[in-house]
Amino acid sequence: MKKKINRKEFIKKAGIVSGALIAGSACQTESDSSGPAIITKKRVSWKMVTTWPANFPVLGEGCNMLAQWVDEMSDGRFKIKVYGGGELTPALQTFDAVSDGSVEMGNGAAYYWGGKMPAAPMFCSIPFGMSAQQMNAWMYSGGGYALWEELYRPFGVKPMPGGNTGVQMGGWFNKAMNHPDDYKGLKMRMPGLGAKVISKLGAAAVVSPGSEIYTNLERGVIDATEWVGPYHDYLMGFHKIAKYYYYPGWHEPSALLENIINIDAWNKLPAEFKAILEAASARQNIWSLSTFEAKNNEYLNKIRQESEVIIAPFNESIIQALRVATDEVMEELIESDATSKKVYQAYTTFRKGISTWNSYDIL
Ligand code: CA
Repeated sequence: MKKKINRKEFIKKAGIVSGALIAGSACQTESDSSGPAIITKKRVSWKMVTTWPANFPVLGEGCNMLAQWVDEMSDGRFKIKVYGGGELTPALQTFDAVSDGSVEMGNGAAYYWGGKMPAAPMFCSIPFGMSAQQMNAWMYSGGGYALWEELYRPFGVKPMPGGNTGVQMGGWFNKAMNHPDDYKGLKMRMPGLGAKVISKLGAAAVVSPGSEIYTNLERGVIDATEWVGPYHDYLMGFHKIAKYYYYPGWHEPSALLENIINIDAWNKLPAEFKAILEAASARQNIWSLSTFEAKNNEYLNKIRQESEVIIAPFNESIIQALRVATDEVMEELIESDATSKKVYQAYTTFRKGISTWNSYDIL
């Protein structure tokens, strides 16, 4: 139980804090010539591998910025060198490289590790699951983070929230989607749990690497694809070859991205550098989401202005069918894995509560 604090005490403590701040700044001025004595002189150099191509918009850029912020906050004593996917290790071996200590840290998304840990995708994205704001609430203040740490701990890996795409788009289609049956025989690029959901409606879900999607859609190898949101989708050029752009991205209502850290490397860090890395990671998390939101706004307008694409919502019959199929997919997942069941129960309990709270929003 936290001790309750009365108003008088609060004002007294607030006075002490502001006094300390003033004293702190005076101390800083005095020590300018010799430098503050308490700061560790230790120097640390880390390698960070990522699941994204080097400098990839927002995702790769966010990793570069994290390294820059850590450098700035540590006055150049804590360096992180960022490698794009494939530069040092293959993109999808990011988790293994961190786990076995080949590198100290990585950046990626938990749903890539579903083969290793069936519960992992729930720490990134679940179809019809939580928004970015709700995920942050679950992570930082709602108990989700402890479950995530527990899941990765046996692998010697410590996770931290390190970005979020926000809500994605439903995808690009070359035929109108009017009925759940329109998924029958549809060849669609769709990863993760979303792939299992559309498969239940009769679609042939295809996983193709980002580099091949445009050509596959143009040549009719696939009939539809999801990617990210207007910013990344515009950069891929899908508005030049697809007729329809549907929303919402029911399959990725948000996608939390992660920084993953080798626990031995973490334990060796001076307390000061641990605090710096946590602060930089939290900043990367908010920077990434904010940049996605602002850029998606800008590029949705560009797609509207520069193309003839029909931008439309999935109708209620399609959304309803996808919801039913999602429930089946999640049921199958939790029945096959006890950890997934525990995580999903915590996730859905938090989600129900916060959705009620969010429904009081003015929007
Ligand atoms: Ca996506």
